[in-house]
Amino acid sequence: MLLGDQRAAVCEYARRMTADGLVVGTSGNISVRADDLVAITPTGVDYAFLAPADIPVVALDGSIVDGELKPTSELAMHLTVYRDVTDPDDAEITAVVHTHSVHATAVSALVDEVPPIHYMLATIGPTARVAPYATYGTVELAEAMRAALKDRRGCLLANHGTITFGDGLSAAYSRAQQLEWLCQLWLLSRSAGTPRLLPPAEIEHVVEKLRGYGQK
Ligand code: 13P
Ligand code: ZN
Repeated sequence: MLLGDQRAAVCEYARRMTADGLVVGTSGNISVRADDLVAITPTGVDYAFLAPADIPVVALDGSIVDGELKPTSELAMHLTVYRDVTDPDDAEITAVVHTHSVHATAVSALVDEVPPIHYMLATIGPTARVAPYATYGTVELAEAMRAALKDRRGCLLANHGTITFGDGLSAAYSRAQQLEWLCQLWLLSRSAGTPRLLPPAEIEHVVEKLRGYGQK
């Protein structure tokens, strides 16, 4: 099967996204790129019933290369990331995750940037922007997202959700989880008082420090 491993990974992570509470129902979407092809979730299909053969494969111009189902309504956002966005460290971008995770979406309706309450914000960048609202599935939304992703690895979409990318689904997915966790943390802290925030210079310092983080 064309892109068999990538299509199986898309199914696995789509189910994980539901199990982890990052989406409800058929919300959200996931894609993986291999060379000039993209395996992407179909629109409006319950992830529980997805099999690898159900995952559409599209070219970078959006034309369907394999599969019977229509791709996600957010195809423009995914393809815009692969075509027009660069990773801040020039890493390859081979996966995109879009969620409606509840705390991140709540924060997207309150602020223009995720408040710097914790240093793990640096996994996204020195800041994480909120792209202005546009209707789901539109080129306007993809354009707003593109601007918000400049020199970042993810952003919030106002009154809608999150989008993150990475080299591999594991990296893109973990950034979606970090964004959700940061937003939950800020809401929790804010509900109990006025949170002390970190200075921008500290987040920038951690962006540098994280380049050496882990078993590298
Ligand atoms: P799809 O079912 O078309 O992927 O739509 C879900 C979504 O999150 C739209 O923004
Ligand atoms: Zn959405």
